[in-house]
Amino acid sequence: MTAGHRGVPEGVVDLRRLDLAPGAGAQVDVRVALGDVTLGGQPYAPDPRVVDVRLDMGSSGSGLGMRLRFATTLTGPCQRCLAPSAFGVEVDARDFQASGRTDADEPDDDLDCEYLSGPLRMEIDVTEWARDAVAEVLPMSILCRDDCAGLCARCGADRNAAPCACADDEMDPRWAALGELKERLGDSGDAAE
Ligand SMILES: [Zn+2]
Ligand SMILES: [Zn+2]
Repeated sequence: MTAGHRGVPEGVVDLRRLDLAPGAGAQVDVRVALGDVTLGGQPYAPDPRVVDVRLDMGSSGSGLGMRLRFATTLTGPCQRCLAPSAFGVEVDARDFQASGRTDADEPDDDLDCEYLSGPLRMEIDVTEWARDAVAEVLPMSILCRDDCAGLCARCGADRNAAPCACADDEMDPRWAALGELKERLGDSGDAAE
């Protein structure tokens, strides 16, 4: 089976096929199937899941510089109200592989690109790199909107829709504290939901 020049290679690219001379560069688009990203125990699914990843390479006397670029959208629950949410991620990652290294050498973070393997370290696992790179650009928190009011800790109502009946009780902090304690005991005793 030959990949030929038509179409987009998938997943793993053999850099020998590019035949990069020192000083030369190359650009290939690689089709990659991204995986779900887990954040706070919740899975977030890429949409589109299959993306064309742009891989730029520049060869020099010291080695090979690589740059990986693509964009996708992750979809999953808002961390406050659980409503379906979506947020865009843009990946622009770089890595470097020093020349003259083989798999016999002790791996070195500064000299070796961990996504390269094969006898001459010329096969790059673009899928693995792309999946790791998505995980590195995630926001600290995922909200349906910045001012999401979240769910009421006591009755579970969506406060974005309307204030719930608990609102008055919470005026008294003693009752609120009791309510939270009850909630917590209930959660640990019975893992329903
Ligand atoms: Zn929300
Ligand atoms: Zn409530």
